[in-house]
Amino acid sequence: MENSLFSQASQQLAKPFQYVSLPEETLEMLKYPKASLTVSIPVRMDDGSLQVFQGYRVRYSTVRGPGKGGIRFHPNVTLDEVTSLAFWMTFKCAVVDLPFGGAKGGVTLNPKELSKFELERLSRGYIDAIADFIGPDVDIPAPDVYTNPTIMGWMMDQYSTICRHIVPGAITGKPLAMGGSLGRTEATARGAFNVISTLLPKFDRYPAYTTVAVQGFGNAGAILAELLFQAGYKVVAVSDSKGGIYAPQGLDIPSIRYQKEQSRRVQAVYCDGSVCSIVKHQQISNEQLLELDVDVLIPAALENQITEANAARIQAPFIFEVANGPVAPAADDILEERGIFVIPDILVNAGGVTVSYFEWVQNRAGQYWSEADVNGKLKQKMEGETETVYRLSKEKEISFRTAAYVHALNRLSEAIAARGTRSYYLRAT
Ligand code: GLU
Repeated sequence: MENSLFSQASQQLAKPFQYVSLPEETLEMLKYPKASLTVSIPVRMDDGSLQVFQGYRVRYSTVRGPGKGGIRFHPNVTLDEVTSLAFWMTFKCAVVDLPFGGAKGGVTLNPKELSKFELERLSRGYIDAIADFIGPDVDIPAPDVYTNPTIMGWMMDQYSTICRHIVPGAITGKPLAMGGSLGRTEATARGAFNVISTLLPKFDRYPAYTTVAVQGFGNAGAILAELLFQAGYKVVAVSDSKGGIYAPQGLDIPSIRYQKEQSRRVQAVYCDGSVCSIVKHQQISNEQLLELDVDVLIPAALENQITEANAARIQAPFIFEVANGPVAPAADDILEERGIFVIPDILVNAGGVTVSYFEWVQNRAGQYWSEADVNGKLKQKMEGETETVYRLSKEKEISFRTAAYVHALNRLSEAIAARGTRSYYLRAT
């Protein structure tokens, strides 16, 4: 347990507690997950065989509202990972002031090895297994790594079948036709873009003079790369799980996205596609991408990408964590000593869950908003909370991560104290 991801994640609370005077009860209440569920999901495969998959759902905290967080389908999913991700969701929802606690789910599998039929049976089977543990007022799942709106649609459908009535607010990130929200698919990237464009000008960094490397070309990384490209940033490197490409003069992100859609591989893009000869580029590995001499580094793939082993070689002065937990705590200290700014996941990628909240509100009100409305509300929230985290970090001379945790802890603490404090109970009457 010492080296578990969760013990690393919860270590992140030690620092903020040095800078704010919070009741001990806050730390006590946030020490352990509120509830954890491990399930087995039997799935009839297309060849007639039966395969049993392991699944999890962890509700970390409900002090500020029902649990909220995605469902990950990945071969490395463990209870430890899901617990850490649920822990981070708790702080993420508090940083952007959503009336939610934190939760997360996952199934250990490689979804690329399943047919679409098998994936549907697995998704419905997972909901059958966790149905008593979730609900629109209890814990609301959403997409995460390797899950998408189609999968959320199956899950909402299955949950509604179990309940014998339609419950759109039970799952967010659904297809539009099933009660999804406009702007949800792009929300993580858009929110990260809002954070980046609020912070960089404070350091006199402007798009035309700013080079960017993005690790991860999934929903968050690819859309963010395109938003940055459109805003005039020079995106010089991108990668996916199979490797990356680097062109110091800048990459044409829309055509890479288009080619990736066709080939499913970023590295194949320039050589297989028609853009092959347009831009000179170099093929690089994911590790090399992290160490490039760029102004902004965006890890948008998985956790633990920047560790003690490579932190000394990172050259980018700004790291925006679009993935959850890409910088390990030991690396965080090294980067801080070297004067590298790390803008934390719980702020940078909070756009996804923010629009999930908007979706949940729309489902419950039965009223749907325009995309401009969603994007406008998201921008307002992300910019406002980014300003607060920036101000806290300056006032207290603390890192952005510590400032974001202080901000979240203040809100969590308020909710914990509202139920009574030591001094309230012991005060003489
Ligand atoms: N999986 C996303 C995250 O890690 C979104 C969660 C949600 O929308 O509930 O923030």
